[in-house]
Order: sequence, then C-alpha cells, then structure tokens
Amino acid sequence: AKRGLDKLVASRDNLPAAPTFDPKDMLEEIDQAISHDALEWHWQPKVDLRDGRVLGFEALVRWRHPRSGNIPADQLIRTVEQSPLLETFTNQCLDTVLSQFARIQHKVDGAAIAINVSARMLERPTFVDSVVELIECHRIAPERVTLELTETALITNPSQAKRVIERLHEHKIPLSIDDFGAGFTSFGYLREFAISEIKIDRSFISRFTESRFDQSLVNSLVVLCESLGIPLVAEGVETPETQELLVSLGCNAGQGYGICKPMPYDDVLDWMDTWRN
Ligand code: C2E
Ligand code: CA
Ligand code: CA
Ligand code: CA
Repeated sequence: AKRGLDKLVASRDNLPAAPTFDPKDMLEEIDQAISHDALEWHWQPKVDLRDGRVLGFEALVRWRHPRSGNIPADQLIRTVEQSPLLETFTNQCLDTVLSQFARIQHKVDGAAIAINVSARMLERPTFVDSVVELIECHRIAPERVTLELTETALITNPSQAKRVIERLHEHKIPLSIDDFGAGFTSFGYLREFAISEIKIDRSFISRFTESRFDQSLVNSLVVLCESLGIPLVAEGVETPETQELLVSLGCNAGQGYGICKPMPYDDVLDWMDTWRN
C-alpha cells in the first residue's frame, strides 16, 4: 500500500500532461509568471546510496499555471530556451534558489545545491559574472553551488564552453555533466574540461536491474570515473533493488523517487529531520 501511495505522489509531482500552448501565448504567460514571482523550485535530495548521507539538493522548476495546471518543466524550459526570456528566467532561478539556500545552508550538514543551466546561457558574455555576483551577494561558499549542464552545451561550441568552464573553475564553482550518455557522448571533453561530477542519464537506470547492458555500462563508468577522480551520480533511482545493485557496482551516489521526490522548499528542513532519525 505504501508503494501504491508513493506512485500516486510521484505522478502528482510528475504533473499531468498539460495542453499545448501557442508558443507565443506561453511566452507571454511565462513573462508574467516571472514578474509575479509565480515560478517555484522544488528540491530533490542527492544522497550517498550506502548510508543515506545527504550530499546535496537539485532545484527543479515548477510552474502551476492559473488555468492549465502544472506545466512540465521540460516544456517550460524548451520554450524559454528559444526566447529572449532565457536570461531573465535564469537570473530568477539563481536568485530564488540561492537566496533560499542561503537561509538554510547552515542546517543542511554541508549539503550543496545544484542548479540546472541551459546550454544557451554559455553564449552570454555576462553569465559567469552574474553567477559569481549572486553567490557572493548571498554569502554562499562557491564550492557549494553546482551548475548542471548537459553534454550538448559542451559539444555545440567546445571552445566557448571551455572558456566558460575554466572561469567557473577559477571561481571554484563545481560543474556537473547532466544526462550523461543520453546524447552524443564524447569522452574527449572529460579530459579537456574541469568536471566535478557526472550524472548518468535516467534511461540507463530505469531498466537497470533487468538489463545486462545497462549494468555493464554503469560498471565501466564507475571504473572510468574512479580513475579520473570524478564522482558519479545515478539519477532515477526508483527501487531498493536498483539502489543495492548500484552500490554493488560501485556507484555510491544517487537521486530518485525511491529516495525522495522533489519537494517544496518549505518542506526541506522537516524532511532532513525525519531522514536523519
Ligand atoms: P533533469 O535535470 O535531468 O532532472 C531530472 C528530472 O527527473 C526531473 O524532472 C525530476 O523530477 C525527475 N526525476 C527525479 N527522480 C526521478 C525518478 O526516480 N524517476 C523518474 N521517472 N523521474 C525522476 P523535471 O523536474 O520534470 O525536470 C525535467 C527537466 O527540465 C530537467 O531534467 C532539466 O533538464 C529541466 N529543468 C528543470 N528545472 C530547470 C531549471 O530550473 N532550469 C533549467 N535550465 N532546466 C530545468
Ligand atoms: Ca539536472
Ligand atoms: Ca538528468
Ligand atoms: Ca533530463
């Protein structure tokens, strides 16, 4: 019964399919949502799969549309990425999440905060400066703010990506490669870029216990990451079986509904208390 309930909560968080919008109308509404502070970020814990220690949280955008209900994050992000709103959206995301994190950073046992960044932001000349400024302004140690970028960002314009990543590195801001293995993975950039974490794409984890292929893949990534000294994180950990198998293959960090669903910011400290006890 507990499982069933969890499923229900999961699907509620995962949001019912939203009607398709005319992209132009949608942009206007997103613009409104940004200026009315109507976007929220839910937090999903990332834990050590062996002992449950909380390593960090990932902030995931949530938009409850006044008439259409919850709009899936992917859909929102796809629209924003192709529009002039991207910069405003990103700044709002950083400002909201960092100010929230600043308020509880001393109560979360050294856990970090991870923020998703669109590849296209790397093209903005002011991107690094504004991230650095916001982190300073909220008095957060830069080591505790991870930026999650997908591989596409690194592949479309490698020389530009390299410059941005070097600057982030100079400022001690960790960079995580999101959805690793989902796209056109090129191992070259693991050598080129200063990368602090790799997140294996959920598609390799979801049928993991049944798939010898996915297990071998995770196994080789564990070996690769260990020799490069890059922490590996599994996303989409939904069951205890998956969690156990990951640990037995040497993948020690993970996120997923089986551990905790993304939750409103206001619930984070209560969750920490129950999780620790
Ligand atoms: P992502 O960065 O790969 O985030 C992980 C997605 O998987 C999230 O979906 C999360 O809710 C979901 N998830 C977590 N655990 C599980 C699990 O065990 N099973 C399953 N089936 N799903 C799980 P969400 O929140 O809908 O976000 C979708 C994508 O939208 C994110 O993928 C990210 O690429 C993007 N996104 C979300 N928030 C932001 C943001 O603030 N800024 C940017 N640029 N992109 C964002
Ligand atoms: Ca992510
Ligand atoms: Ca991901
Ligand atoms: Ca994804």
